[in-house]
Amino acid sequence: MTEPEQRRILKTAIPGPLSTELQARRESNIAAGFGVTLPVFIAEASEGILVDVDGNHLIDLASGIAVTSVGASHPRVTAAIREQADRFTHTCFMVTEYESALEVAERLNRLTPGEFEKRTGLFSTGAEAVENAVKIARTWTGRDAIVVLGHAYHGRTLLTMTMTGKNVPYKEGFGPFAPEVYRVPSPYPYRWAGAATTETGIAEEAFEQLVDQITTQVGTANVAAIIVEPVQGEGGFIVLPEGYMTKVAQFAKENGIVFIADEIQAGLARTGDLFAVDHEGVVPDIVLTAKALAAGMPLSAVTGRAEIMDSVRAGGLGGTYAGNPVACAAAIAALDVIVDEDLPGRARHIEEVVMPRLKELQAECAAIGDVRGRGAMLAMEFVVPGTRTPDPDAAKKVAAHANARGVLTLTAGTYSNVIRLLPPLVISDDLLEDALDVLAEATRTLA
Ligand code: PLP
Repeated sequence: MTEPEQRRILKTAIPGPLSTELQARRESNIAAGFGVTLPVFIAEASEGILVDVDGNHLIDLASGIAVTSVGASHPRVTAAIREQADRFTHTCFMVTEYESALEVAERLNRLTPGEFEKRTGLFSTGAEAVENAVKIARTWTGRDAIVVLGHAYHGRTLLTMTMTGKNVPYKEGFGPFAPEVYRVPSPYPYRWAGAATTETGIAEEAFEQLVDQITTQVGTANVAAIIVEPVQGEGGFIVLPEGYMTKVAQFAKENGIVFIADEIQAGLARTGDLFAVDHEGVVPDIVLTAKALAAGMPLSAVTGRAEIMDSVRAGGLGGTYAGNPVACAAAIAALDVIVDEDLPGRARHIEEVVMPRLKELQAECAAIGDVRGRGAMLAMEFVVPGTRTPDPDAAKKVAAHANARGVLTLTAGTYSNVIRLLPPLVISDDLLEDALDVLAEATRTLA
C-alpha cells in the first residue's frame, strides 16, 4: 500500500458525498449517544494525514484523542500487529500466558518514574486502568475515600464518570454516582479564584485548600488515594502549576495516601517528557497509561510500587481482554518508536513551532483569552473579549471553520470553550505550519 501524501488536499466539501451517505447509515444504526467531532469516514491514515472516503487529505490535530502519537499506521507497529495476529489473537492472560505481556510490564516498570521495585497490571481502556488503580489503593490502605480535582476527566464508567468534573455530557442523567469520591479545587491558573496571581502562589493556595478540605471534610485517615492528571486533558489542557504536585505527593506520603498520576492523555512523550510528572520530578506511587501506549490497539496499564500493587489477592484483578496479545505486540513496537525516534524531543519541537504562532494569534484576536499547554498538548481558550467569560460558540466556530478546510481540531474544557491541539508527534513541520495558517484564518472570522 502506498503511503498517503503528507499534504492537505480538498477534493470535495467536508464532509464529502460518500461520508454524507455513510453518515445517514450511521444515524439509522448507531446509538445517538455517540457524538462525532467531524462526520467524515476515514479510509486510511498515516503520520499527520487522515484520508477520507471522498479522497480528502485532512491534517490531523487530534491523534484520535492523543492515541496515535507514533502515527496511525507506523510500519513497525503494523508489522508487529500482523505478526502477532498470524500466531494467535487471544488466549486470555488469566487462562494461559504469553511473553509479550511480560515485556510490556517490564518496560513500564523500567520507564515510569521511581527507582523502586514495581509491578504492572494490564487492562484494555483508560477508564479500566483508573478503576483498577482505585481498587488497588483501597486494598492497600484499607480506606475508601478517593480525592479528585475540579475539571478532572477520568472516564465514562460509573466510578470514573463520578470522578470526572464536567456534568454535560458525561454525567447528566446517569446517576446515582459512586460513593466516596471527593473533589478539591484544581489550580487552574487562568481561572484561579483565590488571591494568588503567580503560578507558585496558585500552587500554594490550591494545596492549602486541598489539605483543608481533606482534613475537615473527609478525614485524612479515610483517604485511599489522591489522583491527578498532570496536565488536565478534557478539562481544557490545564497545566498544573509547578510545585503543586510535589506538595500533594509529599502530603500523600506523610499520610499513607496513594498518590496516583493519571498519565492516560498526557503521558508517553506527549508533553515533551516521557511522563508529564517528569517535568517536576514527581514520583507517583502509581502511574496510569493507555491511549498512546499501544498506538490505537486497546491497552492500558497500572504501574506502581510493588508492595501496593501486590496487595490485591490473585483473581482480584483482570478482564477477558486485559493485556490482549495483539495490543501488547503493538505496545512493544510503539514504545520502541517513542524511544528510538525521540518522540519527547519531537513534542518539544512541536511546542517550539506552535506556541509562538498561538501567542501571535492571541495578540491579534481578543477572543483568545489564554494559550497554554506543554509539548504537543497545546490549547487556546476563547472568551468574550475584554472579559474571562467563556465563549464556547467562538471555539465552536473556529473549530468548524478549520474542520471545513481540512484541519481536524478538537474542542475541550469544562466550559467547552477550548480548542486543543494534539497532533501525532510524527507530523511534519510543513503540515503544522499549514494547519496554523488555517487556524489563524479561522480565528480572524471572529473579528
Ligand atoms: N483519564 C484521562 C486523563 C483521559 O484523558 C481519558 C480519556 O480521554 C481517560 C482517563 C479514559 O480513557 P478511556 O477513554 O480509554 O476509557
